[in-house]
Amino acid sequence: MSQRISHWVDGRLLEGTSGRTSPVYNPATGQETARVDLASTAEIDAAVAAAGRAAKQWRSSSLSRRSAVLFAFRELLHSRTDELAAIITAEHGKVLSDAAGEIARGLENVEFAAGVPQLLKGGFSEQAATGVDVYSIRQPLGVVAGITPFNFPAMVPLWMCANAIACGNAFILKPSEKDPSASLFLAQMWKDAGLPDGVFSVLQGDKEAVDALLVHPDVAAVSFVGSTPIARYIYETGTAHGKRVQALGGAKNHALVLPDADVDMAADAVVSAAYGAAGERCMALSVAVAVGDVGDRLVDAVAARLPKLTIGDGAAPDTDMGPLITGEHRDKVAGYIDAGEQEGAAVVVDGRTADVPAEGFFLGTTLLDHVKPQMTVYTDEIFGPVLCVVRADTYEEGLQIINDNPYANGTAIFTRDGGAARQFQFDVEVGMVGVNVPIPVPVAYYSFGGWKASLFGDTHMYGPEGMNFYTRGKVVTSRWPDPATSSVDLGFPRTR
Ligand code: NAD
Repeated sequence: MSQRISHWVDGRLLEGTSGRTSPVYNPATGQETARVDLASTAEIDAAVAAAGRAAKQWRSSSLSRRSAVLFAFRELLHSRTDELAAIITAEHGKVLSDAAGEIARGLENVEFAAGVPQLLKGGFSEQAATGVDVYSIRQPLGVVAGITPFNFPAMVPLWMCANAIACGNAFILKPSEKDPSASLFLAQMWKDAGLPDGVFSVLQGDKEAVDALLVHPDVAAVSFVGSTPIARYIYETGTAHGKRVQALGGAKNHALVLPDADVDMAADAVVSAAYGAAGERCMALSVAVAVGDVGDRLVDAVAARLPKLTIGDGAAPDTDMGPLITGEHRDKVAGYIDAGEQEGAAVVVDGRTADVPAEGFFLGTTLLDHVKPQMTVYTDEIFGPVLCVVRADTYEEGLQIINDNPYANGTAIFTRDGGAARQFQFDVEVGMVGVNVPIPVPVAYYSFGGWKASLFGDTHMYGPEGMNFYTRGKVVTSRWPDPATSSVDLGFPRTR
């Protein structure tokens, strides 16, 4: 009998009452391993009420207490990384080292947020007017929600909840229903770290749960990470209901490979970033724009590397690439390769015919050359182990291709020319840029986010922008009574 995965409300597991569930698979075997409860609107309402009560208490806790909880959580997360990585691999399929990598990057956000006493310092102006001081403070919003995608079941929730909790909010997580167990592991660790009940909750669910959060009057802000159509919907619905919303969407990340690049280094980087996690990363490099005569050399170098990758169960120690998340998604990705071939792309390496395990949701690596911008393999986010090579004659032509794309999450240039790299950083209309770095995910003390169709809202996620997102500013103008200077004055207050 498959396991049941429930909610986490008010500091304990809570079985769902909606009667609706969704299957959870081990993608490496294709077997259903669990069923996850899907929350109803009534269950969301009850959880928001519990979170609201907790938020009132938590905002009064001292900064040093919050910092101590974050330090304790950090230690638990660090010492239990292997357990959490195994949970992620069993439901997502990514290899164990990759799962441990996402935890390590999530952990950085906890370390950043542990500095909350420093991060929430305001400004102070003594004697702004005679006997008058002015100072600024930042206060929590109350109950905030995070809605997260399947591809980073630990890191993306940590992008959000570490800062939200440090700032004094109660945080409700609605994880992906495809790999929900990591969220409950995080919930137990928050409790073990000393976080009061109700400050971190998990509501499993689908569109019904999301919609209930988006319209709930007591949810002050929503952070979302997922695909672009849903990100747009979340942003429009949430803001229409008066919420602060940051909604990060899909991506089509380009590498620009210049003729002077070290081709072996560029090929290593592009293969790692295109096929890592089977291409199911929002920062995957899914397009390589090869400038001038580097094209043939790059395609040969990438093609030579692909047969050496071991594809199999992510839990096995020698596996480089695991399966896709579901059978349906695997078939969708294979359909894109069919379409690319029909539209005239050259199939240099064909993942559809690769020797991969028969059970489970596996697909081999695919390399498509001579891809044109109007082909569906180029216009759509495939989110699978498919790399498209687009040829360009000049730097300017390559740059134009990148800037014309509606997505603008990440990009990377490969070159030995510092001037060209600097010009690219200046010219490119993309939120996160790598210079000979294939996956330029900013460290936790910067903020993460793309431009254009990759982000809806004004603030990027985590780092300094995350602290701003989860707080609102207040400015206090203060004078201590001095009878000697008191008088009636109906004029507008002046500072001089
Ligand atoms: P998704 O958009 O299908 O789902 C994301 C979340 O939204 C899930 O919690 C899901 O339950 C919920 N959801 C799905 N359909 C909904 C609907 N109709 N109404 C309300 N809520 C709904 O995304 P996914 O397949 O889980 O994740 C992959 C996508 O996420 C890719 O497009 C990827 O690029 C993107 N992503 C982006 C970033 C980024 O930082 N920009 C990071 C990771 C993933």
